[in-house]
Amino acid sequence: MQFIDLGAQQARIRASIDARMAGVLAHGQYILGPEVAELETELARRAGTRHCIGVANGTDALQLALMALGIGRGHEVITPAFSYVAAAEVIALLGATPVLVDVDPKSFNVDPAAVRAAVTDRTRAIIAVDLFGQCADYDALADIAAGQNIAVIEDAAQSFGATYRGRRACSLGTIATTSFFPSKPLGCYGDGGACFTDDDDLAALLMSIRAHGQAERYHHVRVGVNARLDTLQAAILLAKLEVFDEEVARREIAAQRYHRLIADTGLANAVVTPDVEPDCTSVWAQYTVRVQDRATVVARMKDAGVPTTIHYPRALHQQEAFIETARLVTAVPNSETAAAEVLSLPMHPYLSEADQVKVVAALAAAVRG
Ligand SMILES: *Cc1c(COP(=O)(O)O)cnc(C)c1O
Repeated sequence: MQFIDLGAQQARIRASIDARMAGVLAHGQYILGPEVAELETELARRAGTRHCIGVANGTDALQLALMALGIGRGHEVITPAFSYVAAAEVIALLGATPVLVDVDPKSFNVDPAAVRAAVTDRTRAIIAVDLFGQCADYDALADIAAGQNIAVIEDAAQSFGATYRGRRACSLGTIATTSFFPSKPLGCYGDGGACFTDDDDLAALLMSIRAHGQAERYHHVRVGVNARLDTLQAAILLAKLEVFDEEVARREIAAQRYHRLIADTGLANAVVTPDVEPDCTSVWAQYTVRVQDRATVVARMKDAGVPTTIHYPRALHQQEAFIETARLVTAVPNSETAAAEVLSLPMHPYLSEADQVKVVAALAAAVRG
């Protein structure tokens, strides 16, 4: 059994992938070729935003968002302490201070009350992260940012395709970002990412910054970076979009099946299953439970042939990289507990019921000893 089976998807869409890649080899426009623009148009349509800008990866997408907003030295950016490293990393890299706040213990997403308590006159942005495929509480974050010159950035690396109160992931902030890392719900065959915005000026800035701060070829009006999305990766993503909606539906079925199997096995006391907020849908980038004595559970499941992953074993303030560079304004007990207890089970659109039964049986045996 694999944790994520990318081969099953490839077998289904191989002909489209081959045709799309052959198209790129035939026209030879490897950098910002026509597939990049075609993908940007299609992703903006799906997200419901005016603009989508393809970039080199999801981490660069976050960096470009901060650069376009003019965030750097002397500024503070609030972001969750329990998360993937990318947001805190790019905030620190640009000379700003990551202010790490606690998460909600049920959704694992940033706690708006903790965000509100962390705002100072140096706060320029909030980077909320849609962890495990579910959107953060953007209405509450918009209330906090309103009238304060604070931008809300949506890190939708794990949530492309999810919905929040009738709105779509990647449309919920001043700028949203996503990643096409192969294991994400919408993944390519290498590195890729995108920024989304409704703001025409920010879109123009993002396009300039991703290509060395150019206004036109060899005319550099600002300091930028090289962070373009490859044409070949755009071509692969266009093929993958043909089955994306169906894959999201299959992930939902797999998640509901895990909920039911775990409940039916009588594990409700020993295993906390993931929760989706009312009026929201998740794309289940991960199916992440909580258990006690996790190291033992992981070892026993491994012996039973069931792969698991820990997203993420340390909160960000527990990482050496952020001891000097980030700031905590209060304790973050929910983040520390999450880092100690979370356990992600195999999840992908082609996961069979038989495999899920095996996963839950192994989980039951592991927690019961
Ligand atoms: C994967 C991920 C990123 C970074 O994306 P890359 O394409 O790997 O740079 C950023 N934020 C979150 C929440 C992620 O899961």
